[in-house]
Amino acid sequence: MAETFDVVIIGSGPGGYVGAIRAGQLGLKTAIIEKDKRLGGTCLHRGCIPTKSLLWTAELFHHVREAADFGIDVSSPAINWPNAMKHKDKVVTKGANGIDFLMKKNKVTVVKGHGRIAGKGKVEVTAEDGSKQVLEAKNIIIATGSVPKSLPNVPVDHKRVLNSDSILQIDRVPKSIIVLGAGAVGCEFASVFNHVGSKTAIVEYMPALLPIEDADISKELEKIFKRRGIDVHTGSAVEKVEHTADGVRVTMKVGNETKTLEAEILLSAVGRSPVTEDVGLDKTSIKSERGYIKVDSMLRTSEPNVYAVGDIIPTPMLAHMASAECVVAVEHIAGKSPQPINYDLTPSATYCYPEVASVGLTEKKAKERGYDVKVGIAPMGAVTKAAISNEATGMIKIVSDRKYDEVLGVHIIGPHATELLAEACVALKLEITTEELANTIHAHPTLSEIVHEGAEATLGHPRHF
Ligand code: FAD
Repeated sequence: MAETFDVVIIGSGPGGYVGAIRAGQLGLKTAIIEKDKRLGGTCLHRGCIPTKSLLWTAELFHHVREAADFGIDVSSPAINWPNAMKHKDKVVTKGANGIDFLMKKNKVTVVKGHGRIAGKGKVEVTAEDGSKQVLEAKNIIIATGSVPKSLPNVPVDHKRVLNSDSILQIDRVPKSIIVLGAGAVGCEFASVFNHVGSKTAIVEYMPALLPIEDADISKELEKIFKRRGIDVHTGSAVEKVEHTADGVRVTMKVGNETKTLEAEILLSAVGRSPVTEDVGLDKTSIKSERGYIKVDSMLRTSEPNVYAVGDIIPTPMLAHMASAECVVAVEHIAGKSPQPINYDLTPSATYCYPEVASVGLTEKKAKERGYDVKVGIAPMGAVTKAAISNEATGMIKIVSDRKYDEVLGVHIIGPHATELLAEACVALKLEITTEELANTIHAHPTLSEIVHEGAEATLGHPRHF
């Protein structure tokens, strides 16, 4: 007789495993199904965590090369790539062990294999050896995530043309690299390889790097990337990619001109596709659109008692979003009344150097929504703490509503921007005004003074520039 669970979650990324923890905490009998060897999903194994480990190596190398400026003599620092990869793998393994522990702690049953909805309240799991079992589920949460997308004219062979999965296994620092796509993933890898010594170019179809960020922040990043020696090509449409004797050649259209670039390898970072093809949607009333599943504010699909969260629904493809969504779904299953997610308050973070982070509306979006917009910009140079580490580049931009002075959006580029953003997230959640932000005493000397400076700039009386 099949075991009956209150909730069966398919997929153990930051959506699935965080939802499973919450379900366990709420006393729900919970199972989580994962087809990979280890729990953790894209985020832990092929995304957020391994990339940040390599970014840390790259940033540290940059600081070590500047060590003499800080009064430290270091002779000939060099990258030891195999050790950088070992450190990355160690961090990932530690994370996976942590999730195993959390599943046990919260009494979650882990089932290894490919999960597929097999009818009302049934999930069939096919293990690696082909054996099958069926779990009975009062509720099902689909959290199967996403995989790298590729363009038809840029076929990925994982040798010369890699994607974000295969580049995380590369055994050397390439002499040169072309990164195709300047979203968060592309900008992060361009930042890593530029810092560790690869001749780096980045190519983007849209007119700006990080095209969904505020236009002023994207411009600032482009300026800084160029200063770092990264060859930036925006507004460039790739036509073809060919293999050369020792690498790749990219032909692209830039306006009416045709340009070519050559490098040892190319990274295709052109977005991700949701994984919804082989999860048994055909056994439900759920129809996917371009692979994405539609849900309501409680993450319910059109099929009763089936929920969908994370990268497979048309909301921002971010780890913290997947986690927040799965917690709402689980709390709804448990009969609680969770607050629906306000997607306007989704924090966005890109860990290139310098980091970019934002929450709330861009200036353009705020205007489109009909606000009478007031903007304050403060340069990172206004903050002495940034000068101490030679990092006084970047800025903050605060977008607010002139009528009520409410903060609508905060956009930061600079050192530790992704950490500085937390204050802005709370500010927007509490609907505070720029005046309240400016009246909040910030410790000195801290990088967080940039938030204070930005609020004062919005009010027209910045102190330090
Ligand atoms: P996933 O993490 O993709 O997990 C889905 C899991 O489901 C996988 O383990 C998969 O094996 C499993 N699965 C799929 N189908 C089945 C099935 N039928 N049966 C059983 N198991 C199945 N986001 C951030 O917020 N911050 C970052 O810094 C960040 N950096 C990133 C860097 C890179 C290079 C990439 C690629 C992504 C990054 N992301 C980042 C995005 C983030 O990784 C995803 O948004 C997040 O992992 C989505 O979580 P998820 O739970 O929806 O799915």
